[in-house]
Amino acid sequence: MIPADIDLEEEKREILRRYRALLRVCHRSKSRADRMRIRKAFELSAEAHKDMRRKSGEPYIYHPIAVAKIAAEEIGLDTTSIVCALLHDTVEDTEITLDDIQNLFGKRERTIIDGLTKISGVSNYESASDQAENFRKMLLTLSDDVRVILVKLADRLHNMRTLDHMKREKQLKIASETLFMYAPLAHRLGLYNIKTELEDLALKYKDPETFEEIVSKLQKTQAVRTRFINAFTLPIRRALDKAGLKYDIKGRTKSIYSIWNKIVKKGVPFEEIYDVFAIRIILDTQTETEKSDCWRVYSIVTDFYQPSPERLRDWISIPKSSGYESLHTTVMSPTGKWVEVQIRSVRMDEIAEKGFAAHWKYKDAAESPESKLDRWLSQVRDVLENPEDNAIDFIDNFKLSLFSEEIYVFTPNGDLKTLPVGATALDFAFHIHSQIGSQCIGAKVNYKLVPLSHKLRSGDQVEILTSKKQHPKEDWLNIVVTASARHKIRDALREEKKLIAEEGKEMLKRKFNALKIDFLSKNIDEFVKHFESINATNLYVRIAKGSIDLTRLKGYAIDGARIRFEKEELPERKSVAPETSADKKVLTTQGKGEALLIGDEQQKVDYNLASCCNPIPGDEVFGFITVNEGIKIHRTNCPNAQELLSKYAYRVMKARWRNAETVQFEVGLKFSGIDDVGIVQNITNIISTDMNVNMRAISFEANHGIFQGKVIVLVHDTKHLSALTEKLKAIDGVLTVDRIESEFE
Ligand code: MN
Repeated sequence: MIPADIDLEEEKREILRRYRALLRVCHRSKSRADRMRIRKAFELSAEAHKDMRRKSGEPYIYHPIAVAKIAAEEIGLDTTSIVCALLHDTVEDTEITLDDIQNLFGKRERTIIDGLTKISGVSNYESASDQAENFRKMLLTLSDDVRVILVKLADRLHNMRTLDHMKREKQLKIASETLFMYAPLAHRLGLYNIKTELEDLALKYKDPETFEEIVSKLQKTQAVRTRFINAFTLPIRRALDKAGLKYDIKGRTKSIYSIWNKIVKKGVPFEEIYDVFAIRIILDTQTETEKSDCWRVYSIVTDFYQPSPERLRDWISIPKSSGYESLHTTVMSPTGKWVEVQIRSVRMDEIAEKGFAAHWKYKDAAESPESKLDRWLSQVRDVLENPEDNAIDFIDNFKLSLFSEEIYVFTPNGDLKTLPVGATALDFAFHIHSQIGSQCIGAKVNYKLVPLSHKLRSGDQVEILTSKKQHPKEDWLNIVVTASARHKIRDALREEKKLIAEEGKEMLKRKFNALKIDFLSKNIDEFVKHFESINATNLYVRIAKGSIDLTRLKGYAIDGARIRFEKEELPERKSVAPETSADKKVLTTQGKGEALLIGDEQQKVDYNLASCCNPIPGDEVFGFITVNEGIKIHRTNCPNAQELLSKYAYRVMKARWRNAETVQFEVGLKFSGIDDVGIVQNITNIISTDMNVNMRAISFEANHGIFQGKVIVLVHDTKHLSALTEKLKAIDGVLTVDRIESEFE
């Protein structure tokens, strides 16, 4: 076990040196009692691991000492965490039991080490979903004590730093797992340095060639960057000196991993990103004045360089939930390149890079370091535990960062199912079984009743409710996102249609018998033509569903065994009542029955657009059967919709827009703004020249420097309309642009 050529005495001295180096960074464990506990843990661990070596041949105890050092120095954890870090592998790998830990240290330590042992016990998984499932388990164990995850991160970081001696497959597995779970976790906890190091290390093993290439290219381009940074910061430095501020300026390049991400995932060449970096100005200033000092620096920076107003981020007034504080602005450099400038105090900078590790230094009198740690730990715990918002985002954020197209949901028995993002309860039902899908009437998500169309989120537990009477509907196709569910619904609909058609066919056969004509294609075709069906099946379906009433057949002649309908008389279609002038105006621009599909069978039927809400394609609409004006189309958010829908539900028809780019719709826009020479010209130019939109009417009225205007334009749909609206809003002087909801406005 022990290599022959090793000087054991020297090794013991090295162990002690490393132990003392650990003590030097345990800033938060100054008391004698704390030192005693750390020493006891070190001695117990050293004794327990004494015959073990790492893959590199080094004494095993180097690892727990290093993990404890990371916990203390880089994460800023307390004595309990350091003790647990020193002992983290003892229960799993040595004779020491959890009872021993509890007897020698306490209940807390037992809980944490138990958690750490469990996490490492579940690390053998094959697929991404197993990995996610185990990660969920890991999150659940966290509710005991979040120090489990923090010590685990320290453990993982040290393992990543010493991955060289592992076998290639093991390296790949650990590196992937690190990218998949630990780096995003570190990020979420505000441990940016650790996150970046984990990602860079993981990349080094996952894609060593590209990693080395980026490293060498970064080295080669270093001089160019330095020159740029020096030139860019020179006027700022001078002004800061003049203002008497103490500061440090750094040029921060992107991490190797984030450059790799751009190159490999986005296909951007290195040459386009090597010079993307942030300038960081770190102020050496008092906590009391740091906020105003940061804004002073902002003012100085923007005296020299024009800032982009949309890219100002003030995380000083409102820090991020991870505790990150900084003032970010993006300014235009003289070479025409955007440069991000980050302004923060030394205190903010340390917290940003090291997370809690930095806090101990900045004690404020009101709060002891211990209570600060407790507060931070409880914040972390809240984030992890609160299932309502953060925890889901949290899981989404990191578990899905690499598998962003998937969500993980659970059956009532706890089985994990993987579905694409956007999947609904109905997708889930079909995923379980096609029959469960076909009979699905609703679902319970996390014990709450939801409709079929409810979008699922990672971590949801889903129970499907079924009914034997349920059968797949046409509009289910709009609810599902998975190809397999869509496929199954289509099959079921086809199957159902076949049965219905069969029934309709029998009905028609009986009618033919009664009329004493042959059931032959020429006669059937006559019916198909007469009722404007696409084909015989469609005709049968309409007969079976009662939309063609065979008992009220009119205007036909029977000649031998053949039937012939007379051309003049169009049955079934009710003639539409005389149009009002408003309706006529609309109809001239659209062509009848062109743009909407109406009713269960989504057929082209005549309709009018209601003048109370003037719907255009893209709007959510429904059809309403009026007493003497045929079908009127209203927007679902029409002021009259609620009454129509609730009182006359039986007169409401489904309606859906077809994609018809060629059809144009009239819509009114109203503006307001500051009266200015040329504003009307600007507006009309945008409409007719820039957007190539036809204008019907325009009117403007100015009053005390404010103008109000109306314009009637022809657009294709809501997308077209909102593009136009956005352009108009961007005109200088224009304050509001709104759609005119009704004719009478
Ligand atoms: Mn370990």
